[in-house]
Amino acid sequence: MDLRKVSLAQLPSVGPKRLEALQSLGINNVYDLLFYFPFRYEDMQAKSLDDAIDQEKILIKGVVASEPVVSRFGYKKTRLNVRLMTDNESIMVTFFNQPWLKDKFETGNEAAVYGKWNANRRSLMGMKVIGVDDNSVDSVYSVNKNIHQKTLVNLIKVAFEKYHDQIETVVPSYLRLKYKLLDDEQIVSGIHFPKSEEQSEEARRSAKFREFFLFQCGLQSIKRNDDNQNIGIVEKYDQKFLDDFIKSLPFKLTDAQNRVVQEILQDMASNHHMNRLLQGDVGSGKTIVSVIAMLASVTAGYQAAIMAPTEILAQQHFDKISKLLTPLKIRTALLTGSLTKKEHDFIAGDILNGKTNIVVGTHALIQDSVEFKDLGFIVIDEQHRFGVNQRKALRQKGNNPDVLAMTATPIPRTLAITTYGDMDVSRIDQLPAGRKKIETYWIRSQKIEQMYQFVAKELQTGSQVYVVTPLISESETMDLKNAELIFDKFTELFGKKYKIGLLHGQMPNDQKEAVMSDFSDKKIDVLVSTTVIEVGVDVPNASVMVIYDANRFGLSQLHQLRGRVGRGDKQSYCILIADPKNESAAERMKILTSTNDGFVLAEEDLKMRGAGDLLGNRQSGLPEFKIGNPINDINILEVAQEEASRLFEDDKLFNSPETKNLKSFINEEYDQLNNFD
Ligand code: ADP
Ligand code: MG
Repeated sequence: MDLRKVSLAQLPSVGPKRLEALQSLGINNVYDLLFYFPFRYEDMQAKSLDDAIDQEKILIKGVVASEPVVSRFGYKKTRLNVRLMTDNESIMVTFFNQPWLKDKFETGNEAAVYGKWNANRRSLMGMKVIGVDDNSVDSVYSVNKNIHQKTLVNLIKVAFEKYHDQIETVVPSYLRLKYKLLDDEQIVSGIHFPKSEEQSEEARRSAKFREFFLFQCGLQSIKRNDDNQNIGIVEKYDQKFLDDFIKSLPFKLTDAQNRVVQEILQDMASNHHMNRLLQGDVGSGKTIVSVIAMLASVTAGYQAAIMAPTEILAQQHFDKISKLLTPLKIRTALLTGSLTKKEHDFIAGDILNGKTNIVVGTHALIQDSVEFKDLGFIVIDEQHRFGVNQRKALRQKGNNPDVLAMTATPIPRTLAITTYGDMDVSRIDQLPAGRKKIETYWIRSQKIEQMYQFVAKELQTGSQVYVVTPLISESETMDLKNAELIFDKFTELFGKKYKIGLLHGQMPNDQKEAVMSDFSDKKIDVLVSTTVIEVGVDVPNASVMVIYDANRFGLSQLHQLRGRVGRGDKQSYCILIADPKNESAAERMKILTSTNDGFVLAEEDLKMRGAGDLLGNRQSGLPEFKIGNPINDINILEVAQEEASRLFEDDKLFNSPETKNLKSFINEEYDQLNNFD
């Protein structure tokens, strides 16, 4: 029987009130109830606060230091504040709109809270309270004010007794045999009512495979559907035109760039709908690859668009692209949010009537007022900076355009399988010739004079310098103050001989652009900036990157920042100023000084941050896994992926009666993934 269709009202102890309580937990039918699994402490990141990174999800334990306080704000919103004294620090924990949790905290008692860490404020945004009573058991059901743990467990028991022999197994038996997995009835009983540790382990392992397998099957069906139904555009591009263009470039493409260009062109020429991720470390030369691809599309008679996450970056792309392509009579346009209505309408008009061949823009491109005549190819630069919906919206501007998404963030195995499972991946695994390794140094702030001296020396050789202050705080004004202080200091030290510039997020866009283009044109020698600079900016003459408070950021972001230098043939340097207060931050500084390899850094970053941070958030476009942890359980995940893809390739397997149940689950997964935003 399909227990997803059996109402909870069929259970003896469920009346309208319980029904509602269960629904508030997302439990809508008997199936949901049986598969409502407890989480375990060990599945969470229980680590010392000193090791926690900003926005990481962690579990903290402490003694309630003062009476919890509920305050109201806005329309019917509440905030619950409670102070927890951990081993050596008093931490403010805040819950939004769950005033009832107040009762869980009694002054002087121990409490444990799972939540999101704010490293700057040293506070926690609470997500779950783990009561002290629960400390005795290692499994905890996530419940709310409407229902108790015990009630829930009892209900599960009742449901299991009534329906256990009707639970239909999802994973086909050939796989269960191969990997020694339990069937669904055994999974449910083994997880909720284990008779031994081994049984519980076995059940969890099977449940993880089941969860990952379903997810992978969902991705597979999206991919196949995309391939089959959305026949892509066949773009008959002009090879000679492209060859001439490539020959005219001031540099020779690297082998890796050439290979990737071929991969893209092949997709364009076929009716295969391209959905490709281009990964290449910072400075590997992704932009020119995307320009060649867009040009190909234009020679085939289509329009192309490239969307960048910031105006600064869009402007820079536009300057480069128009300089390269205008002589070839390719018409380019820049479309951002800071245009006047008149300018916007004019540019949008030319996009609609097809006069414009290539459009460079920010997310302003996806406004309703922007329509294309015939959009055949889109590029999404720094794609991880866009939400799934934004990427989708741009795609819908054309009739199934080919998509090239670019990212410098190397994709650890986990992410490659999950987030990007439905994309083809191309890699530029080589930097242009002549690039020197960026030398990275870490100094403590007491030695900051050394940095000034070093900067002075570099400036003398004609180099330009970035100074970034990556203070992360909720208040932009605080970032600003910090940047201004540093700006003043540099002006005091170097202002007589050199031009110092300031760039921060609160400046109006035209001012930002002016500063950026002055830096590009070497009218500014030292650019003091907040992290608005982080993404993509390319000024090859800049050879020094100074980063203040470097310990405040994760590895990947520091790597991105560092990647702003080392783009020309000069020896480049990155100076990290950091006074880390704990081992792991110090460890991060050391890793950065020891490697330039973005892939190594990304794997480390992922490990240090944990899964919650990179997966399961809305940005990544992934639903949260209930029981599997894609990082710790990477081996199970990989096997699940292999098996899912094999199943879809093999008609005999796919159409066997054994997969009938599986298929209906896949359909559900497909809908969920497709509608996820
Ligand atoms: P990213 O991959 O980080 O986006 P860019 O596309 O901005 O990198 O390229 C970095 C710099 O390298 C740019 O100044 C670009 O013109 C230059 N570049 C790209 N390809 C080559 C190449 N094959 N040889 C030399 N320089 C190159
Ligand atoms: Mg780039």
